[in-house]
Amino acid sequence: MTTTDTPTTCPAWCNGDHLTTTNDDDGFHHDAEQYSLLPANQDNTGGDAYVFVNVAQFVPADGEPCPAIVELTPDNGPTVRLTPSEASQLALALLVAGKTAHQR
Ligand SMILES: [Zn+2]
Repeated sequence: MTTTDTPTTCPAWCNGDHLTTTNDDDGFHHDAEQYSLLPANQDNTGGDAYVFVNVAQFVPADGEPCPAIVELTPDNGPTVRLTPSEASQLALALLVAGKTAHQR
């Protein structure tokens, strides 16, 4: 078994569909089930512009697993990688903003 083979132990949140890096010798990612949201306000081109949320953890071929992170990826933008604490802070900010936007 090489270090890049599918591991026998995954985090509880891993869907088992491991994504390898472009170089298989680098390692692989544990990935959770992806959540997607299609906002009502689309991008300027009129196309669908989903926002994807995923939990991922990189496991280097030659080292200990990196901490799990939350990835926020808009269809037309770069991926934002957040620590679990940062993701929780963003979630709280979104809850407050959503509640504020509902006020009259
Ligand atoms: Zn896994």
